Amino acid sequence: MRLAMSRDTMSEQVLRFTRSLWARATGADEDLAVPLKAAALKQRRRFVTGLRWASQWFWLLITIAVGAQFMRWVRQVETGVVTIDRPGGVEAFLPLSALLSLRHLWETGAISPVRPAGFMIFLAVAATGLLMKRAFCSWVCPVGTASEWLAGLSRRAFGRKLALPRGLDLPMRSLKYLLLLFFASAIFWRMSGADVAMFLDSPYNRVADVKMLYFFEQLSPFAAKVIFGLVVLSIAIPYFWCRYLCPYGALLGFLSLLSPLKVTRDAASCIDCDLCTKACPSHLPVAKLTRVSSDECVGCISCVAACPVPRALRVETPAPWRRALRPAAFAVVLLVLFGGTMVAAKVAGVWRTNVSDEEYVSRVQELNDPRYGHPR
Ligand code: SF4
Ligand code: SF4
Repeated sequence: MRLAMSRDTMSEQVLRFTRSLWARATGADEDLAVPLKAAALKQRRRFVTGLRWASQWFWLLITIAVGAQFMRWVRQVETGVVTIDRPGGVEAFLPLSALLSLRHLWETGAISPVRPAGFMIFLAVAATGLLMKRAFCSWVCPVGTASEWLAGLSRRAFGRKLALPRGLDLPMRSLKYLLLLFFASAIFWRMSGADVAMFLDSPYNRVADVKMLYFFEQLSPFAAKVIFGLVVLSIAIPYFWCRYLCPYGALLGFLSLLSPLKVTRDAASCIDCDLCTKACPSHLPVAKLTRVSSDECVGCISCVAACPVPRALRVETPAPWRRALRPAAFAVVLLVLFGGTMVAAKVAGVWRTNVSDEEYVSRVQELNDPRYGHPR
């Protein structure tokens, strides 16, 4: 009897603890309509910035570790004696192969075994776009992180946030969608299922990761000038690559229109201070919107962190459920969604390529053969 009672008490305690965790994550336990004092607002801003900073560094260090391991592996492949594992994560940098794998899945119902890791990373990125706006851009993507650093450099150098005039900005923003349309139309309309299967299994695609490394190690003067030009442009016009050219950003912008989690402003609690608009790196007029639906919202929640009235601006699901996610919960959901998809893919065995080390060793010797050119 006493044992049954203590079990009851324990389960009630667990339930209470879970409810309080949920309430803290959603902010349901506080009077959020009261404006924060300056010190508390500063602390909140620091906390949110720190969360995003930690996430960006986490993924950047993982990317560097994957790159370093891949370079070591390629050096071993060149000598013919391979003792370490090839990191599958390197396939994140082969997005076209992932798009072809998507078409292949559509045609055959099976995941191509040539670049499974790249495809699963692609799915993980798409899942974040479908649920959490373009949070991938501002919390995970190393190019997004570099763009943010260059934007900070620009702000310090010029003393303000630079932007293209609206009349030029709008047509320029469509460039990334045109690029995405170009690749998608080639893969989903102009190529047949047989063409796609042939490309995925082509000599080029089977060693595309090694070719990519060689491309960056033996950068042509033209490619070096293009990269340098993009860096300069990203200082003169912050987020130039992400805002105008990145096809991944275009795909995420498109998917993010369906995202249930969006920054939402409660007009009744808003004190019209405009701090959210000033904080937005995407130049969105947050203080005038009720729900930020724009494809340019990168989910950085800088606006939420800047808002002095916690209830006035939150990341929320749509009415009628209207559940808000606090910044910490937002970060955890993103980590679980993106990282969890990759861990699940590894556990399920959808990660390792079917290109063996021996095949890499023999193909790397013949990379100058015309068969290793990009299939037309
Ligand atoms: S500041 Fe707010 S509205 Fe602007 S991009 Fe970040 S999350 Fe979106
Ligand atoms: S929503 Fe924007 S304008 Fe309104 S109180 Fe918050 S920061 Fe100020």
